[in-house]
Amino acid sequence: MTRFFFRLDATDGRARTGAIDTPRGTIRTPAFMPVGTAATVKGMMPESVAETGADILLGNTYHLMLRPGAERIERLGGLHRFMNWDGPILTDSGGFQVMSLSDLRKLTEDGVTFKSHIDGSKHFLSPERSMEIQRQLGSDIVMAFDECPALPAPRERVAASMRMSMRWAARSREAFGDRPGHALFGIQQGGLEADLREESAAALKEIGFDGYAVGGLAVGEGQEAMFACLDHAPETLPREAPRYLMGVGKPDDIVGAVKRGIDMMDCVLPSRSGRTGQAWTRRGQVNLKNARHMDDPRPLDEACTCPCCRNYSRAYLHHVHRAGEMIAGMLLTWHNLHYYQELMSGLRAAIAGGRFAAFEAAFHAERAEGDIERL
Ligand SMILES: [Zn+2]
Repeated sequence: MTRFFFRLDATDGRARTGAIDTPRGTIRTPAFMPVGTAATVKGMMPESVAETGADILLGNTYHLMLRPGAERIERLGGLHRFMNWDGPILTDSGGFQVMSLSDLRKLTEDGVTFKSHIDGSKHFLSPERSMEIQRQLGSDIVMAFDECPALPAPRERVAASMRMSMRWAARSREAFGDRPGHALFGIQQGGLEADLREESAAALKEIGFDGYAVGGLAVGEGQEAMFACLDHAPETLPREAPRYLMGVGKPDDIVGAVKRGIDMMDCVLPSRSGRTGQAWTRRGQVNLKNARHMDDPRPLDEACTCPCCRNYSRAYLHHVHRAGEMIAGMLLTWHNLHYYQELMSGLRAAIAGGRFAAFEAAFHAERAEGDIERL
């Protein structure tokens, strides 16, 4: 059986490229993971998600434990079989979404008691319960259970929360046990405070994980503050393990994060934007709702090879979005995920070729041009 194994192939500055081998397939890094919250990447068939170039999907523990339930998914053969995705799956721990989505939370050292945002039913999540649920789902990469405050937050609050998350990280490690072929990632916390990030990294390294996430960012601090943190935080984590930045981001966030040594990212943005008529292209964001596209026979991006750009005009995309047709979200999600994976593939090739700086400059120059001239 293939073990979980991270291989670093090349670096350029602090940017890294390599691959993570898992029994379910290889994840090329830096990797972008599309989000399949409720056992589906909304609007996409799993084989289509694979066609965009995605090697791994993310599933949400919080959503799946509430509906349809982790025990049910386990009885039905696990999440891969349930959703018809046989590649690697990473699941989050549920901690972040309990704090952001559920009602009536009670947080103690033991864990979090909360009410479902779906039907008000009462639930409990702890490091032990989160490990059990992620095992029932059959997740390939399991995240430690943690907690983090929204930023900005007082330093004492950030420090206390981080230290509890480190105690929870040790409990997660203990509860995860020894599961060959499956990986457990620890999550660094500490907000924007460099010394707390270092303290957190030291605690995680002491426990020992297969990979390390930079957590607690992309929670309202803004890109400048996030990059300032990433100028330091990834370097405090082991060089020989994958580094995952959770919940990021926009294309320029991704380029900046990869530049600072991040190997994995996830975000709902490409799929969520697709459902609201927003497209991400080499030349920035395009709003297909805008009337300027009504008579435009050109594709969204003439250089893009996705099915949306190969076969449909801006006029059609504008029409189906305005008419509320499902295909609008399907086509734009496909394009957006394709664009994100093209970006990752470009980043990997640039790092391997030692030309990251030129790639970054070209990326920003193209976006600065803005969308194509209107007809
Ligand atoms: Zn396209």
